[in-house]
Amino acid sequence: MLDSLFKPKSVAVIGASTRELHIGNRVIRNLVEFGFKGAIYPINPGSDEIRGIKCYKSILDCPDNVDVVHMVIPAKLVPQAVEECGKKGVKNIIINSGGFSETGPEGIAIEKDFMEKAKKYGIRMLGPNCQGIINSDPDCRAYCNFTFTRPDPGYISIVSLSGGVAEVIHQGFSEMGVGTRFYASNGNACDITIPEIIRYYGNDDKTRVVVTYVEGLRDPVNFMDVATEVAGKKPVLAMKAGRTSEGAQAAASHTGGLAKEDLATDLIFKKAGIVSFQDEGELIHAAAAFASQPVPKGNRVGLITNTGGPAVIATDVLVGAGLKIPPLSGKTRNILSEKLFKDASINNPVDVLATGTAEHYRAALDAMMDDDGIDCIYIGLVTPFFVDTDSIAREIVEVNRQRKKPMVCNLMTDRRQWTETVDILRKGEVPCYSLPGAAARVMCALVAYRNILDREKGTVKDFKDTDKAAAEKIIKAAAAAGRKMLSAGEVYKILEAYGIPAAPWRMALTPEEAVKAAGELGFPVVVKADAESIIHKSDMGGVAVNLKDGDAVKMAASDMKGKFKTADLKFFVQKFIPGGLEIIAGAKAEEGLGHIIMFGLGGIYVEIMKDVVFSLTPVTDAEADEMLSSIKGAALLSGARGRKGVDREKLLELVQRLSRLVTDLPEIKEMDLNPIMAFEDSAFAVDARISL
Ligand code: ADP
Ligand code: MG
Repeated sequence: MLDSLFKPKSVAVIGASTRELHIGNRVIRNLVEFGFKGAIYPINPGSDEIRGIKCYKSILDCPDNVDVVHMVIPAKLVPQAVEECGKKGVKNIIINSGGFSETGPEGIAIEKDFMEKAKKYGIRMLGPNCQGIINSDPDCRAYCNFTFTRPDPGYISIVSLSGGVAEVIHQGFSEMGVGTRFYASNGNACDITIPEIIRYYGNDDKTRVVVTYVEGLRDPVNFMDVATEVAGKKPVLAMKAGRTSEGAQAAASHTGGLAKEDLATDLIFKKAGIVSFQDEGELIHAAAAFASQPVPKGNRVGLITNTGGPAVIATDVLVGAGLKIPPLSGKTRNILSEKLFKDASINNPVDVLATGTAEHYRAALDAMMDDDGIDCIYIGLVTPFFVDTDSIAREIVEVNRQRKKPMVCNLMTDRRQWTETVDILRKGEVPCYSLPGAAARVMCALVAYRNILDREKGTVKDFKDTDKAAAEKIIKAAAAAGRKMLSAGEVYKILEAYGIPAAPWRMALTPEEAVKAAGELGFPVVVKADAESIIHKSDMGGVAVNLKDGDAVKMAASDMKGKFKTADLKFFVQKFIPGGLEIIAGAKAEEGLGHIIMFGLGGIYVEIMKDVVFSLTPVTDAEADEMLSSIKGAALLSGARGRKGVDREKLLELVQRLSRLVTDLPEIKEMDLNPIMAFEDSAFAVDARISL
């Protein structure tokens, strides 16, 4: 429970200062000017009062309980101050000062020291090296923060490690005239974490939208659990920065090595049901709409505009994101042809014409609200001088107040002249955007959350026939021998233990043995050179396919023996099964998270097309299905242009078995099956690699 932090009844500032430009002064000023409802206790042994408020020599002298203490003192003085706060029974401390783990070993030691003291007294710590919190609720008005944006009460709650980004986002809402509810920036996050704050926001009835910015996830599993829980209740909007390697580097030095590979974070966001953004402007725009609009029931958009062109731009964005712009019902069209101007367009998009009046907008809005074929409404409004735009705005606001279906508005105007129109829409909580594409992208985000709520999460299939013990034994033996790459024989035995079908094979030590093995398998066969040092076999001349008889096998194997002068060389003899669609599937370990499973088109396609998709373990049946459907070459799986489709069920099962395999065997660092030969009624791995 973070109530005493976010809804404090009293705030003390250790390191309060009479100097106007000092954080220890600014925090007090912010509390006062924001109208904090509780008591303020400046602490400074050298002053009697600060900003007209009585000052105390020590936290121990404060007359009452203290919920939140700001510390604005040098790092080395913090542990002692925490000890005193403990004696006073302080509940939370926000450390604004820097000089801790972000600076090096000395700072890390100080952080450890004060954390021990905080734990002893049960004090919760925010930061250090952070801004603090804001609560805009009229009952509390806590501005425990040294920044400058003063929010109106609202429904959006923000959390970010980075104070700078939290402020950017906050500022964005402020510019749009959208209020916020809670704000928190927790800097080094040595105690209170982002997931803990997200959960708190999730349980807060007045928070309608949670907005977070991350540069890296310290505890990805915990983040995913909490985000999944909260995203099921209300939209969680997130942005991850550090996408380029240069960005990741900057983030790493910013957050002290927190940045992880980007892909994993994207997959966590996806699995948790977070609406994710790559652009902070889009995130801010979308959050503003989530704060005031209901979640759409579906993806069918009705457009009403008084100027055609911008609606065309919006249409492209909406349709491009998979939203639908369906024809309007006969009833709606009848109403529109009766009420709008004769020349108005009564198809979707509806164009009421530039001369369209408030009554026209109202009629179109009401008709779309009543049309069962429409889930959400996009309004285009340019403000010509010859119509009463204030009245149009009032009608839009009135319909918006019904909260029946979500709406976004592309308001095209000179905001310095049409101030009244702008103000009416703002106060009426109609999310307005200057650009049609921006408004449309917000609509797409609203629908994305609908899709998240409706999506099939699926179940993790419990395969009863897997033999974990057999696979573990192989891996333990290889690890004990200090080997990082498993031999072909070991790899295929592990596949067998997990029911992953592979082409029949034999291992041979000599060319003669290879001939014998080929006879047992039946021709034609493939011979592959197998040794720890041989990674890309075909590049190095270590693969001979379509060998039709013993002589061919003997020649191929002898040839390899001459080529690879390595003592551990063996011959992997495999049934030749040509003509399938080459598929790749693989897994890669992500520290603290599990594995990322990959699926896509294999063989030469991998290099050229890079047509692969990813999902986090454990992969559910629904997720496996989505993976198969979302590769660019999905049509190849179901058959195209005279080519037969492949066995989808087998591939789905294979992906799920692979997920189970690496989940059971976390020692596996990387694994790939490339290619898997997929046919109409079967699929076999013909090449497999596992590294530990
Ligand atoms: P590597 O990937 O190490 O170069 P592979 O074992 O994948 O070696 O073989 C290279 C290519 O040879 C495969 O992509 C596939 O096209 C073909 N191939 C290998 N084994 C078989 C087989 N058993 N049946 C049919 N084609 C095969
Ligand atoms: Mg291969």
